[in-house]
Formats: sequence, structure tokens, C-alpha cells
Amino acid sequence: MDPGSHRHERSEKLGRRAAARTPGGVHSNVRLAGPRVYFSHAKGARVFGVDGEDYVDYLLGQGPAFLGHAPDAVLDAVDQASRRGLVFGGQHELEIEASEAVCEALGWPDMVRFGVSGTESVQAALRLARAATGRTRVIRFEGHYHGWLDNVLTQPGENGVWGAASAGQLDSHLEDFIVLPWNDADAVATALERKGDQIAAVLMEPVMVNAGVIEPLPGYLERIRELCTARGVVLIFDEVISGFRFGLSGAAGWFGVTPDLATYGKAMAGGWPVSALAGRAELMERFGTGEVNHSGTFNGSVMAMAATKATLECLRKDPPYDSIEEHGTALIEGIKEIATAHGLPLHVQGFPVAFHVSFGEAEVTDYRSLQQLDLMSYARFAQALVEHGVLVAARGVWYVSASHGREELSLALGRISRAMSEWV
Ligand code: PMP
Repeated sequence: MDPGSHRHERSEKLGRRAAARTPGGVHSNVRLAGPRVYFSHAKGARVFGVDGEDYVDYLLGQGPAFLGHAPDAVLDAVDQASRRGLVFGGQHELEIEASEAVCEALGWPDMVRFGVSGTESVQAALRLARAATGRTRVIRFEGHYHGWLDNVLTQPGENGVWGAASAGQLDSHLEDFIVLPWNDADAVATALERKGDQIAAVLMEPVMVNAGVIEPLPGYLERIRELCTARGVVLIFDEVISGFRFGLSGAAGWFGVTPDLATYGKAMAGGWPVSALAGRAELMERFGTGEVNHSGTFNGSVMAMAATKATLECLRKDPPYDSIEEHGTALIEGIKEIATAHGLPLHVQGFPVAFHVSFGEAEVTDYRSLQQLDLMSYARFAQALVEHGVLVAARGVWYVSASHGREELSLALGRISRAMSEWV
């Protein structure tokens, strides 16, 4: 059923019930801004609501459903493997196979440590970088997201200075972080010149997907790589979104710049909660000697390893990257055409596999220039899109999966067109 003006009676009822037992009715604060629809099931590129409506999904669980929802190969692998036990608190062969698959797919790392969430793998990377360099400070960038923990969650204050983003989070947690504008290599060079002997790491999303899907300017990543190498600073790519989405070797492979450490999650395991920290042996070995602690009851669980292995097998044997490129390109063109026909100043940027949609006009290269767009109006329009059966995030990021085909394309464009007609 096409949602259109459909009422969400069951969703609303469930929402009221949830709110009694769960703060805000959601289990992740990111979802406070998301659609308050309850979903019953999902398959491929489609998600179904409890009121009988269906959605063409460009949210993809915030990224993990890269193969589409409920991919058979991953479900079968998890089902078969988990029948032999779910979690051993000890070693099993699938861990080795998944580690080999990750390192081979990425190409550059020697070793990998699995975790459960991107947030924790970022923390492991920071701890390792500090241990390896004996330094404390970290350069990071405006608008990049690295999880919800105290030392990485930031937002700009009224004075433009980046500080704590949550009540209960102390500014002192962020003291060791130097927040710079992204895509400005000179800013990094200057900071390293002034404080290079204190800087353990430079941490960034190699494509700033979380704010605007902004790509690195030509030569930017290369220059940061050189600067880090020259100063003995550990370069960490947070590829929790870009990993396996921008090709098997992630953004590092896409842009041809190799970090020292990188974090992965989302697309790596077909929807299963798994993250990874990958890196060169000389750094990673510190976990193995016990010098640097990285632990977790569910790290390397049977299901997680089976899902990772199966997902990477799918990506290697039947690479979806061309079909995603085709769908994403046609979708972007279609959205732009519809907007032009309706006289709407739509701004689209990024890549067919992950792009950002907003209203307004601006040359966007970093978080500050992104603010010139009308992000607030778009967030409201995103809600209208959801009402019309196109599931998208309010913050403007659209993801395309291996399961998006022609049928979804024409369905989505028809719904987007109707949403825009009502919007203008
Ligand atoms: N890093 C990046 C780049 C992310 O986009 C995210 C999540 N959106 C995280 C880290 C945190 O991952 P998780 O939500 O799995 O903890």
C-alpha cells in the first residue's frame, strides 16, 4: 500500500506504548529525529510499516543494509553457524576466516580486531594510537561523527567553538582534541607545526558522509598522509560508513590513500552488528602482547563472524558496485529533474552510493559551507518523503543498496514527484 495520506494508527499506538518503558520511545538518540513509524519487516530495498504501508528504503538502517534487507546468503550463514553455538568466550575458526576476508578485501591492513559497534572500534583506535606514540592529543574535524562517547561527541557552541554535545558530557572530556575545519590541509600543517610532538593521531572520515557527504578536495588526503608520516602521527580513517560501500577497499582504496588504522562497521556484515579496527601489524600487535587493552564479551561472536564472512563473499563474488552506481546516478538525475520541474532549489552532492540532498545553493567543501544550505527545510521535506513512502534520513544522507533495482527507481521517483507537488 502506498502510504500517501495513510494514517499511522498502529504506529502511533505502539509509539505511546513504547514511550512508557523507553525514554523517548527510541533506543538510540539518533532516532529521536527519525520517522516515528513502526516497521513490521523488510526485504531487499523495501521496508514495510505496521499499518500496511511500504517504503522504498534509502535509509538502509543508517547504512548496514548495503546488500539490501535480510540478504538470504547472510541469513543462511548466520543460521547454520549459530546452530553450533552463539558465543564461546574463546576462539573459533570463523574468526580467522572473517579476519582473512576483511584484510584481503581491504588490501592494505595486516590485522584486524572485531568489535560490536563503530563507536567502540574508534575508541580502540585512539587508545592504540596514543600507546604507540606516547602522545595524547588528537586532531579531528568539524562535522565528522565518531560515535556517541564522551571524548568524540561534539557540536558547535554559539561562539562557533566545538564543545560537548550532550548534557552530562564534560568539556574536559574533549580537551585533548583539536577540532579543525576539514579539507583545509594548511590548518593541519599549522597545528602539527605548533604541537606536532603532542599529537598522537589525525582522525577523520575520509569522505565526510555524516555531514553533507562531502568529498575530500583533490590532494587533501595525500597531503594529510604525508604530514602524518613526517611527524610520526597515526592517521586513522573512520570508515564505519565508507568501508565496503565505496568499493571493497573502502574510501582508502577509492582515493588511493592508505591510513595507519581504520575502523569499519555497517556495510561489512549485511546488517549484523559488527565493527572492526584494522591496521598495520606493527601497531596492531600491541593488542596481542596485552600492552593495549581491547576487550568485549561479544567480539568475534559466531553470528558476527558468519555474517561478516558471508557478506564479504557476496561482495567479492557478485560485486554490486556497478548496479549501485547505475541506480544512484539515475536516482540523482531523476530527483533533480523533478525538482527543476517544480521550481525547487534542490542541492544534491556526493556519490551515487551515498549522496546528500538539501535545499539551497552553495559551494560545499566543509561543515561551515554546508550550513549555507537550508538544512532545516529539507529535514521537514524528508518527513514528507517518508509520508509518501520513500524512507530517508532527516539529515539529508541517502544510501543506495545492492537490492535497489528499476522497480524501486520508478516507484521512488513517482512518490518523490508527488511529495514535491504537495510541497511547493
Ligand atoms: N563512525 C562513523 C563515521 C559513523 O558514521 C558512525 C555511526 N553512524 C560511528 C562511527 C559509530 O558507529 P556505531 O553507531 O556503530 O557505534
